[in-house]
Amino acid sequence: MSFGGLIDEARIVARSLADAAAGALDPTLRLGVTGLSRAGKTVFLTALVQALVHGGRLPSFRAYAQGRIAGARLSPQPDDAVPRFEVETHLRALTGPDRVWPESTRRISELRVVVDFESRGGFLSGSRPGRKLTLDIVDYPGEWLLDLALLSQDFRTWSTRTLLSSEGPTRAPIAAEWRAHLATVDPLAAADESVAREAAAKFTAYLRAGRDDRVALSTLPPGRFLMPGDMEGSPALTFAPLTIPAEGDAPSGSLWAMMERRYEAYRTLVVKPFFRDHFARLDRQIVLVDALAALNAGPEAVADLETAMTDVLAAFRHGQNSWLSSLFRPRVERLMFAATKADHLHHTSHDRLEAILRRLVGRAIERAEFGGAAVDVVALAAVRATREASARQGRDELPVIIGVPEKGQRSNGQVFDGEEEIAVFPGDLPADPEVALRSGGYVGRAAREDGGDLRFIKFRPPKILASERPPQLPHIRLDRTIEFLIGDALI
Ligand code: GDP
Repeated sequence: MSFGGLIDEARIVARSLADAAAGALDPTLRLGVTGLSRAGKTVFLTALVQALVHGGRLPSFRAYAQGRIAGARLSPQPDDAVPRFEVETHLRALTGPDRVWPESTRRISELRVVVDFESRGGFLSGSRPGRKLTLDIVDYPGEWLLDLALLSQDFRTWSTRTLLSSEGPTRAPIAAEWRAHLATVDPLAAADESVAREAAAKFTAYLRAGRDDRVALSTLPPGRFLMPGDMEGSPALTFAPLTIPAEGDAPSGSLWAMMERRYEAYRTLVVKPFFRDHFARLDRQIVLVDALAALNAGPEAVADLETAMTDVLAAFRHGQNSWLSSLFRPRVERLMFAATKADHLHHTSHDRLEAILRRLVGRAIERAEFGGAAVDVVALAAVRATREASARQGRDELPVIIGVPEKGQRSNGQVFDGEEEIAVFPGDLPADPEVALRSGGYVGRAAREDGGDLRFIKFRPPKILASERPPQLPHIRLDRTIEFLIGDALI
């Protein structure tokens, strides 16, 4: 191990001891919020902070419902080098006159919330000693988490696996252009920056296409290619898989050697520090999943989501084998998977969505031989943009959801103006999760009629009465989520 590595690790131990000492008096928790891009991290974290600081309708958040939360406030964050999560800006976007969704997560950020509460014992005995929970919330792209798999793959293994997986029926068409270019690249030729850049650009375009709603794949590492953070354009991101011989070393000066070196740099300079400095310090974690998008896109997307969840679970039990990795061993004790945007469904389907996610996570737990944290699942809408009603169709009364589609979207030849409400027959989720997993299985009635557009409708954030200050954001099961993540620290 290098000397620098030792110092790094000593620093982490010292930091963990400091964290532990603080926790002995009043609890301090680090909560990770992650999920692939567009899963709903920014919206969730904004709604979470708003609920903690200003309250709301939160019957399942027990300490709050029991009247034991005296108040909560934002406080300066502990890590000076991590950008702050700009909750005020995001809240203004959501609740201001324009009512727009906030700007999505593109990098890691952090926010500290201090919750003043009364312990249950003190509350009941009437002695009411004040206590304090310090909650450090870290928001980071889920793409980065899935990079853990790269730490156990050398360049040859990664190249082979990436090429093989791009041959699947969903991936092959979107990978075609990159693969065609790759066929013209000679890995033994002299290293050439312009060839490396073109290969990386085409490879990245393939990964991006995999995130399109209609494909909705989840496992597309390297994560920084999709979410570069502040590394955009750097050489550590300018590499791509190559078709290389099954044996032998890269000749020096070759394109192969260049790509291999950059891949190694990515693993050492990007992936490892993220796990060491951020991930390994988390106590609690919520993984937001746009399960509806995967169900919409079909069985391959669902299978890919399951693989992603297996990888995520593996990350939380990683490193139990060596003394070195015990320093980096994640200490997460509670892990929640949340299917977001549940307000696209009628409430009769919320339990079904949860059952599908539970089934997916259960299988992923088996595959990852997971023996770590307490795991739970929830179907969630951090900000509920729709309400429910029923509509008559012939003799039938059918459940509908009502919301304002975002301006400029089209459906059935109609272009929405961003003001008018429409009623949508929400998608049907099969009662049997196995059926959903096999068939995709989320096809809205209206969607079938008009070729699928409505499945992807984006509703504007909900209207909030001007008289409501501070604004109360409607939600689905946010309170249950908060209870699982931090409820036990508030007793
Ligand atoms: P991030 O990339 O994970 O930070 O994702 P965001 O939080 O920015 O969410 C991406 C988009 O998903 C938003 O712009 C909204 O359109 C939608 N979204 C997120 N959460 C909700 C929700 O609770 N309800 C609804 N209807 N849409 C949501």
